Amino acid sequence: RKPGAVRFNGGMNYRHAYHAGNFADVMKHTALVAVLLHLRKKQAPFAVIDTHAGRGLYDLSGTEAGKTGEARQGIASLGDAPAGNEVLQTYLDTARSFGSATYPGSPLIAARLLRPQDRLVAIEKHPEECEALTTALKPFHKTRAVCADGYERLAALLPPPERRGAILIDPPFEAPDEFAQMADALGNALRRFATGIYLLWFPIKTKSDADALSGEVLARGATKLLRLQLDVGASAEGRLTQTGLLIVNPPYGFDAQMREALSALAAPLGRGRPAQWSVEWLAGEG
Ligand code: SAM
Repeated sequence: RKPGAVRFNGGMNYRHAYHAGNFADVMKHTALVAVLLHLRKKQAPFAVIDTHAGRGLYDLSGTEAGKTGEARQGIASLGDAPAGNEVLQTYLDTARSFGSATYPGSPLIAARLLRPQDRLVAIEKHPEECEALTTALKPFHKTRAVCADGYERLAALLPPPERRGAILIDPPFEAPDEFAQMADALGNALRRFATGIYLLWFPIKTKSDADALSGEVLARGATKLLRLQLDVGASAEGRLTQTGLLIVNPPYGFDAQMREALSALAAPLGRGRPAQWSVEWLAGEG
Protein backbone atom coordinates (compact mmCIF):
# COMPACT_ATOMS: atom_id res chain seq x y z
CA ARG A 1 0.00 0.00 0.00
CA LYS A 2 1.12 3.51 -0.83
CA PRO A 3 1.34 5.68 2.31
CA GLY A 4 -1.19 8.48 2.35
CA ALA A 5 -3.55 6.84 -0.12
CA VAL A 6 -4.81 3.50 1.09
CA ARG A 7 -8.05 2.39 -0.55
CA PHE A 8 -10.59 4.69 -2.16
CA ASN A 9 -13.12 5.65 0.46
CA GLY A 10 -14.79 8.80 -0.82
CA GLY A 11 -11.49 10.71 -0.61
CA MET A 12 -11.22 10.22 3.13
CA ASN A 13 -8.09 8.04 3.36
CA TYR A 14 -5.56 10.57 2.21
CA ARG A 15 -3.37 12.17 4.89
CA HIS A 16 -1.16 15.02 3.78
CA ALA A 17 1.20 14.33 6.73
CA TYR A 18 2.94 11.68 4.56
CA HIS A 19 3.74 14.25 1.90
CA ALA A 20 4.00 17.61 3.72
CA GLY A 21 7.03 19.64 2.66
CA ASN A 22 7.79 17.43 -0.36
CA PHE A 23 8.84 18.76 -3.79
CA ALA A 24 5.22 19.23 -4.84
CA ASP A 25 4.46 21.31 -1.73
CA VAL A 26 7.59 23.37 -2.36
CA MET A 27 6.45 24.35 -5.88
CA LYS A 28 2.79 24.82 -4.91
CA HIS A 29 3.56 26.92 -1.84
CA THR A 30 6.19 29.01 -3.64
CA ALA A 31 3.57 29.84 -6.28
CA LEU A 32 1.01 30.64 -3.57
CA VAL A 33 3.49 33.01 -1.93
CA ALA A 34 4.17 34.74 -5.28
CA VAL A 35 0.43 35.31 -5.76
CA LEU A 36 -0.04 36.62 -2.20
CA LEU A 37 2.93 39.00 -2.52
CA HIS A 38 1.29 40.36 -5.66
CA LEU A 39 -2.10 40.83 -3.94
CA ARG A 40 -0.36 42.65 -1.08
CA LYS A 41 0.97 45.32 -3.43
CA LYS A 42 -2.35 47.19 -3.29
CA GLN A 43 -3.90 48.43 -0.04
CA ALA A 44 -7.34 47.09 -1.00
CA PRO A 45 -8.27 43.93 0.96
CA PHE A 46 -8.24 40.46 -0.59
CA ALA A 47 -9.66 37.04 0.25
CA VAL A 48 -7.95 33.66 0.08
CA ILE A 49 -10.05 30.51 -0.26
CA ASP A 50 -8.36 27.14 0.23
CA THR A 51 -10.87 24.46 -0.83
CA HIS A 52 -8.85 21.41 0.34
CA ALA A 53 -6.87 22.87 3.21
CA GLY A 54 -5.52 19.87 5.13
CA ARG A 55 -4.63 20.02 8.85
CA GLY A 56 -2.53 23.18 8.64
CA LEU A 57 0.59 22.13 10.57
CA TYR A 58 2.62 18.96 10.00
CA ASP A 59 5.08 17.34 12.37
CA LEU A 60 8.12 16.47 10.27
CA SER A 61 9.53 14.37 13.09
CA GLY A 62 6.31 12.33 13.28
CA THR A 63 5.68 8.77 12.11
CA GLU A 64 3.97 9.68 8.83
CA ALA A 65 6.70 12.06 7.62
CA GLY A 66 9.39 9.63 8.83
CA LYS A 67 7.87 6.74 6.85
CA THR A 68 8.17 8.45 3.49
CA GLY A 69 11.08 10.87 4.10
CA GLU A 70 9.51 13.15 1.50
CA ALA A 71 10.25 16.39 3.36
CA ARG A 72 13.94 15.46 3.54
CA GLN A 73 14.03 15.54 -0.27
CA GLY A 74 11.85 18.66 -0.29
CA ILE A 75 11.90 21.61 2.11
CA ALA A 76 14.75 20.17 4.20
CA SER A 77 17.05 19.93 1.16
CA LEU A 78 16.82 23.66 0.38
CA GLY A 79 19.55 26.12 1.29
CA ASP A 80 19.28 29.89 1.22
CA ALA A 81 17.28 31.73 -1.41
CA PRO A 82 19.40 33.43 -4.09
CA ALA A 83 20.06 37.09 -3.19
CA GLY A 84 17.20 39.33 -4.28
CA ASN A 85 14.70 36.50 -4.89
CA GLU A 86 11.83 37.89 -2.82
CA VAL A 87 9.43 35.04 -3.60
CA LEU A 88 11.74 32.21 -2.50
CA GLN A 89 13.01 34.23 0.45
CA THR A 90 9.45 34.84 1.66
CA TYR A 91 8.49 31.19 1.12
CA LEU A 92 11.53 29.93 3.05
CA ASP A 93 11.15 32.48 5.86
CA THR A 94 7.45 31.64 6.22
CA ALA A 95 7.94 27.86 6.07
CA ARG A 96 10.87 27.99 8.55
CA SER A 97 9.14 30.38 10.94
CA PHE A 98 7.24 27.39 12.40
CA GLY A 99 10.51 25.63 13.35
CA SER A 100 12.55 23.02 11.48
CA ALA A 101 10.41 20.10 12.72
CA THR A 102 7.09 21.63 11.66
CA TYR A 103 5.91 22.36 8.14
CA PRO A 104 3.05 24.78 7.52
CA GLY A 105 0.46 23.78 4.94
CA SER A 106 -1.16 26.22 2.54
CA PRO A 107 -3.69 27.72 5.05
CA LEU A 108 -0.92 28.52 7.54
CA ILE A 109 1.33 30.00 4.87
CA ALA A 110 -1.56 32.18 3.72
CA ALA A 111 -2.50 33.11 7.30
CA ARG A 112 1.06 34.33 7.95
CA LEU A 113 1.00 36.54 4.86
CA LEU A 114 -2.41 38.17 5.37
CA ARG A 115 -2.57 41.82 6.40
CA PRO A 116 -5.19 43.02 8.91
CA GLN A 117 -7.60 43.87 6.09
CA ASP A 118 -7.35 40.45 4.37
CA ARG A 119 -9.21 37.23 5.04
CA LEU A 120 -8.80 33.45 4.71
CA VAL A 121 -11.44 30.74 4.45
CA ALA A 122 -9.92 27.25 4.68
CA ILE A 123 -12.19 24.28 3.93
CA GLU A 124 -11.39 20.70 4.93
CA LYS A 125 -13.73 17.72 4.73
CA HIS A 126 -12.00 15.19 6.98
CA PRO A 127 -13.27 15.74 10.55
CA GLU A 128 -9.97 15.06 12.35
CA GLU A 129 -7.93 17.08 9.89
CA CYS A 130 -10.44 19.90 10.19
CA GLU A 131 -10.30 19.85 13.98
CA ALA A 132 -6.52 20.20 13.81
CA LEU A 133 -6.89 22.97 11.22
CA THR A 134 -9.34 24.86 13.46
CA THR A 135 -6.79 24.77 16.30
CA ALA A 136 -3.88 25.73 14.03
CA LEU A 137 -5.74 28.78 12.69
CA LYS A 138 -6.94 30.00 16.13
CA PRO A 139 -4.06 32.46 16.65
CA PHE A 140 -4.67 34.10 13.27
CA HIS A 141 -7.03 37.01 12.96
CA LYS A 142 -9.56 36.92 10.07
CA THR A 143 -9.09 33.25 9.28
CA ARG A 144 -11.84 30.64 9.37
CA ALA A 145 -11.72 26.85 9.16
CA VAL A 146 -14.85 25.31 7.62
CA CYS A 147 -15.41 21.57 8.02
CA ALA A 148 -17.18 20.79 4.76
CA ASP A 149 -16.83 19.74 1.13
CA GLY A 150 -14.59 22.29 -0.57
CA TYR A 151 -16.14 21.91 -4.01
CA GLU A 152 -19.64 22.41 -2.64
CA ARG A 153 -18.73 25.41 -0.47
CA LEU A 154 -16.66 27.24 -3.05
CA ALA A 155 -19.54 28.51 -5.17
CA ALA A 156 -21.29 30.09 -2.15
CA LEU A 157 -18.12 32.03 -1.28
CA LEU A 158 -17.84 33.64 -4.73
CA PRO A 159 -17.53 36.36 -5.67
CA PRO A 160 -15.80 37.53 -2.49
CA PRO A 161 -17.05 40.96 -1.37
CA GLU A 162 -13.45 42.21 -1.69
CA ARG A 163 -13.54 41.38 -5.44
CA ARG A 164 -9.85 40.48 -5.21
CA GLY A 165 -8.55 37.12 -4.24
CA ALA A 166 -6.81 33.80 -4.72
CA ILE A 167 -8.41 30.36 -4.68
CA LEU A 168 -6.30 27.24 -4.16
CA ILE A 169 -7.85 23.93 -5.27
CA ASP A 170 -5.61 21.14 -3.99
CA PRO A 171 -7.54 17.84 -3.74
CA PRO A 172 -5.99 14.47 -2.83
CA PHE A 173 -6.59 12.83 -6.26
CA GLU A 174 -7.80 9.61 -4.72
CA ALA A 175 -11.09 9.68 -6.60
CA PRO A 176 -11.01 8.44 -10.19
CA ASP A 177 -13.02 11.47 -11.34
CA GLU A 178 -11.02 14.13 -9.44
CA PHE A 179 -9.82 15.82 -12.66
CA ALA A 180 -13.42 16.19 -13.85
CA GLN A 181 -14.63 17.47 -10.45
CA MET A 182 -11.84 20.01 -10.41
CA ALA A 183 -12.62 21.30 -13.91
CA ASP A 184 -16.35 21.54 -13.08
CA ALA A 185 -15.65 23.42 -9.85
CA LEU A 186 -13.38 25.83 -11.69
CA GLY A 187 -16.00 26.42 -14.41
CA ASN A 188 -18.66 27.29 -11.80
CA ALA A 189 -16.23 29.48 -9.91
CA LEU A 190 -15.18 31.40 -13.03
CA ARG A 191 -18.81 32.18 -13.84
CA ARG A 192 -19.13 33.84 -10.41
CA PHE A 193 -15.69 35.39 -10.09
CA ALA A 194 -14.04 35.72 -13.48
CA THR A 195 -11.12 37.85 -12.26
CA GLY A 196 -10.02 35.61 -9.37
CA ILE A 197 -6.55 34.08 -9.36
CA TYR A 198 -6.98 30.30 -9.27
CA LEU A 199 -4.22 27.80 -8.45
CA LEU A 200 -5.03 24.18 -9.33
CA TRP A 201 -2.61 21.51 -8.18
CA PHE A 202 -2.32 18.19 -10.00
CA PRO A 203 -0.10 15.10 -9.97
CA ILE A 204 1.49 14.09 -13.27
CA LYS A 205 1.29 10.35 -13.69
CA THR A 206 0.96 10.48 -17.47
CA LYS A 207 1.46 13.41 -19.81
CA SER A 208 -2.06 12.93 -21.09
CA ASP A 209 -3.56 13.63 -17.60
CA ALA A 210 -1.90 17.05 -17.54
CA ASP A 211 -2.98 17.85 -21.09
CA ALA A 212 -6.53 16.64 -20.53
CA LEU A 213 -6.95 18.77 -17.40
CA SER A 214 -5.47 21.82 -19.14
CA GLY A 215 -7.88 21.30 -22.05
CA GLU A 216 -10.87 21.01 -19.70
CA VAL A 217 -9.85 24.18 -17.87
CA LEU A 218 -9.62 26.07 -21.18
CA ALA A 219 -13.00 24.67 -22.22
CA ARG A 220 -14.49 25.96 -18.92
CA GLY A 221 -13.64 29.55 -19.92
CA ALA A 222 -10.14 30.30 -18.60
CA THR A 223 -8.73 33.00 -20.88
CA LYS A 224 -5.36 33.49 -19.14
CA LEU A 225 -3.76 30.19 -18.22
CA LEU A 226 -0.23 29.30 -17.20
CA ARG A 227 1.07 25.77 -16.50
CA LEU A 228 4.00 24.92 -14.26
CA GLN A 229 5.53 21.45 -14.29
CA LEU A 230 8.30 19.93 -12.21
CA ASP A 231 9.96 16.52 -12.59
CA VAL A 232 12.45 15.61 -9.85
CA GLY A 233 13.69 12.37 -11.44
CA ALA A 234 14.21 9.01 -9.76
CA SER A 235 11.42 7.68 -7.60
CA ALA A 236 11.64 5.65 -4.43
CA GLU A 237 8.95 2.95 -4.12
CA GLY A 238 6.92 4.19 -7.05
CA ARG A 239 6.13 7.55 -5.43
CA LEU A 240 5.10 10.62 -7.38
CA THR A 241 8.00 12.38 -9.09
CA GLN A 242 6.18 14.89 -11.31
CA THR A 243 3.79 17.61 -10.35
CA GLY A 244 1.97 20.44 -12.04
CA LEU A 245 0.09 23.60 -11.23
CA LEU A 246 -2.37 25.46 -13.42
CA ILE A 247 -2.77 29.15 -12.69
CA VAL A 248 -5.79 30.94 -14.08
CA ASN A 249 -5.32 34.72 -14.29
CA PRO A 250 -1.72 34.74 -13.05
CA PRO A 251 -0.61 38.18 -11.90
CA TYR A 252 1.67 40.28 -14.05
CA GLY A 253 5.27 39.07 -13.77
CA PHE A 254 4.34 35.79 -12.06
CA ASP A 255 5.67 33.69 -14.97
CA ALA A 256 9.13 35.29 -14.74
CA GLN A 257 9.15 34.95 -10.95
CA MET A 258 8.35 31.24 -11.18
CA ARG A 259 11.04 30.69 -13.83
CA GLU A 260 13.58 32.23 -11.45
CA ALA A 261 12.31 30.28 -8.48
CA LEU A 262 12.20 26.93 -10.31
CA SER A 263 15.66 27.39 -11.76
CA ALA A 264 16.98 27.95 -8.21
CA LEU A 265 15.05 24.92 -6.91
CA ALA A 266 16.13 22.55 -9.73
CA ALA A 267 19.47 21.51 -8.18
CA PRO A 268 18.36 20.90 -4.58
CA LEU A 269 15.11 19.14 -5.56
CA GLY A 270 16.63 16.98 -8.33
CA ARG A 271 17.52 13.35 -7.59
CA GLY A 272 20.73 12.31 -9.29
CA ARG A 273 20.32 15.18 -11.77
CA PRO A 274 18.79 18.67 -11.60
CA ALA A 275 15.00 18.65 -11.65
CA GLN A 276 13.41 19.49 -14.98
CA TRP A 277 10.76 22.18 -15.02
CA SER A 278 8.67 24.27 -17.37
CA VAL A 279 6.55 27.42 -17.20
CA GLU A 280 4.25 27.59 -20.18
CA TRP A 281 1.42 29.86 -21.29
CA LEU A 282 -1.59 27.89 -22.52
CA ALA A 283 -3.76 30.97 -23.14
CA GLY A 284 -3.53 34.75 -23.00
CA GLU A 285 0.20 35.24 -22.53
CA GLY A 286 1.15 38.16 -20.20
N1 SAM B 1 -3.72 22.34 0.53
C1 SAM B 1 -2.96 21.64 1.56
C2 SAM B 1 -1.57 22.22 1.61
O1 SAM B 1 -1.05 22.68 0.58
O2 SAM B 1 -0.99 22.25 2.70
C3 SAM B 1 -2.91 20.15 1.34
C4 SAM B 1 -4.22 19.49 1.08
S1 SAM B 1 -4.19 17.78 0.82
C5 SAM B 1 -3.38 17.60 -0.71
C6 SAM B 1 -5.88 17.46 0.41
C7 SAM B 1 -6.86 17.56 1.57
O3 SAM B 1 -8.20 17.57 1.06
C8 SAM B 1 -6.82 16.41 2.56
O4 SAM B 1 -6.60 16.92 3.85
C9 SAM B 1 -8.22 15.77 2.48
O5 SAM B 1 -8.71 15.32 3.73
C10 SAM B 1 -9.04 16.92 1.98
N2 SAM B 1 -10.28 16.58 1.24
C11 SAM B 1 -10.58 15.49 0.50
N3 SAM B 1 -11.75 15.65 -0.14
C12 SAM B 1 -12.21 16.90 0.19
C13 SAM B 1 -13.33 17.69 -0.19
N4 SAM B 1 -14.25 17.22 -1.04
N5 SAM B 1 -13.45 18.94 0.32
C14 SAM B 1 -12.53 19.43 1.18
N6 SAM B 1 -11.43 18.75 1.58
C15 SAM B 1 -11.26 17.50 1.08
